[in-house]
Amino acid sequence: MGYFNEEHNLFRDSLSEFLEREVRPNIEEWEKAGRIPKSIWQKMGKMGFLGLTFPQKYGGGDLDFFFEVIFNEELGRLNSGGFVITQQVVQYMSTPYIYKYGSDKLKEKYLPGIISGDLIGCIGITEPDAGSDTKNIQTRAELVDDHYLINGSKTFITNGLYGDFVVLVVKTDTSAGSKGVSLICVDLDLKGITKNKINKLGWHSSDTAEIGFDNVKVPKENLIGEEGEGFYYLMNGLQLERLCFLPSNVATMEYALSVSLDYMSQRRAFGRTIDKFEVIRHKVSHLSSELEALKAFSYYCCDLFDKGIYDVKLCSMGKLLVTELHEKISTECLQFFGGNGFTEDYPMARMFRDSRVGTIGGGTSEIMREIIAKVIIDDVKYLKAKSNINSKENLINFSTDYLNKEKTNPSEAFDNYDFSIATKALVISDNTINTTIKHINQADDNGSKKSSSQVIRHQIAQMASEIECYKQFVNSLSNKLKLTENLDKEILMAKLTSMQLMDKVVSQCFEIFGNYNDLNDHPLNEIFHTSKKIQISNNKRDLHENIAKFIIEN
Ligand SMILES: Cc1cc2nc3c(=O)[nH]c(=O)nc-3n(C[C@H](O)[C@H](O)[C@H](O)COP(=O)(O)OP(=O)(O)OC[C@H]3O[C@@H](n4cnc5c(N)ncnc54)[C@H](O)[C@@H]3O)c2cc1C
Repeated sequence: MGYFNEEHNLFRDSLSEFLEREVRPNIEEWEKAGRIPKSIWQKMGKMGFLGLTFPQKYGGGDLDFFFEVIFNEELGRLNSGGFVITQQVVQYMSTPYIYKYGSDKLKEKYLPGIISGDLIGCIGITEPDAGSDTKNIQTRAELVDDHYLINGSKTFITNGLYGDFVVLVVKTDTSAGSKGVSLICVDLDLKGITKNKINKLGWHSSDTAEIGFDNVKVPKENLIGEEGEGFYYLMNGLQLERLCFLPSNVATMEYALSVSLDYMSQRRAFGRTIDKFEVIRHKVSHLSSELEALKAFSYYCCDLFDKGIYDVKLCSMGKLLVTELHEKISTECLQFFGGNGFTEDYPMARMFRDSRVGTIGGGTSEIMREIIAKVIIDDVKYLKAKSNINSKENLINFSTDYLNKEKTNPSEAFDNYDFSIATKALVISDNTINTTIKHINQADDNGSKKSSSQVIRHQIAQMASEIECYKQFVNSLSNKLKLTENLDKEILMAKLTSMQLMDKVVSQCFEIFGNYNDLNDHPLNEIFHTSKKIQISNNKRDLHENIAKFIIEN
């Protein structure tokens, strides 16, 4: 299935040409200076590169979400986490609250400046004593006549030093728990605001600050939406915040693999270029296959978002997987460069330090697993908060036909051996995790359930995320196969990733079940035998080598 049309492609070309000319040559200087000049955002605003999905009446492009996907991919390819996050915070993490829930007056005041690149925004959630535990924030906004009086402090605020305003998360009622949380738009030059720079491991060109609020007076009309609804708004908004990491991180990882392959085709050791060593080739095929799968999953999640579908589980799974893989690929690709990888003369040092924050910012990996576990183990439903704009809300067909066929009538599944192994491995993984979820939700003789163990919950959340990702990968290939595209490499990649996943899921689920006297009595007995049969008749070493040939020699 193609997500990009001719218009998208033209936009990509013009954005990419601009970034190569105006941004890439300056990144090193901005990294050293610890800030990005506003003039570059103003230039991008003039070119129509900002506010792509916002309405034309505020200067936006009124375009579909795949223009934002391209925006994130092209910024991601620059290999500067600091540059990417600065505008991601503006476009996806702060402005949407004003646009979706703010009054017309607030929109007219802020949106045109944001879209022209004149205004830089921040999102102020985290406090020194409340990070993951957002409900526990203490910053207070008290309504006094026609204004709010704000007291408290925020920390780790991206764009906090040089930004113009912050969408501030405050308590307007300290006795109402999450129902006392509100959002207020606060200009950062008001009396009573203090800022301290935070020095960080990575994202050097992005400014990060601790911000203090001491009796800061903000007009009442700067309240975004309704008092007490802020927590709801945030829970919705965080989905877009997490989603935008997918295309940008995927593109950065593609860049990492591409520069590594170039380097390895030149660098010689023991009389040959290092891309001829088996372990390196297999690592390349392993990482590239995981990345290819995640890219398909990323497009799938973005497509759902574009269609107005709100899926907390998928956004959390995507954020979890993409940031964890980014960290892994940065580490492994740096290793490909040997000593040069550790120097500032090659691209991997910056990527290595920039990637580390991915599993922390925007909700940690542990918090993502918590959310996913609640949905898949406890059947918790997250509802969408109402906004004051008309969003499209289409129903789409979650087609996993090929998997259903594999389950009910394997002979009708695709006539491609490698593809059928990939689907079989996925069906086994899916069945195994479902059987295991049922098992952990059953009480034992003492009335306790394994589903109360956080370690087990997180293990299941991780495996379920990988299953969902590979399902969408295989699904995307099945759609393309119908168009008879040549997908030899991708099918091998799907086979490899699905088989690796199956081995992991079966083995970890056995562990979760715990002690059994006899394998024959084990609920996973049949699954175990089928998975081992697949494993012994499909050599993964050959598979790795065949994928490596496609990537390295082609
Ligand atoms: C560079 C950078 C930029 C940032 N930008 C912004 C920004 O612009 N705006 C903003 O509001 N915030 C921002 N943040 C803050 C970021 O969102 C938080 O750091 C993050 O949510 C984690 O909160 P914390 O640092 O307080 O960690 P804590 O919540 O103290 O967590 C510490 C550790 O405990 C774990 N933990 C916590 N709760 C659980 C649990 N229930 N189960 C298992 N483990 C748990 C965490 O996963 C983590 O490993 C930024 C952070 C960084 C580093």
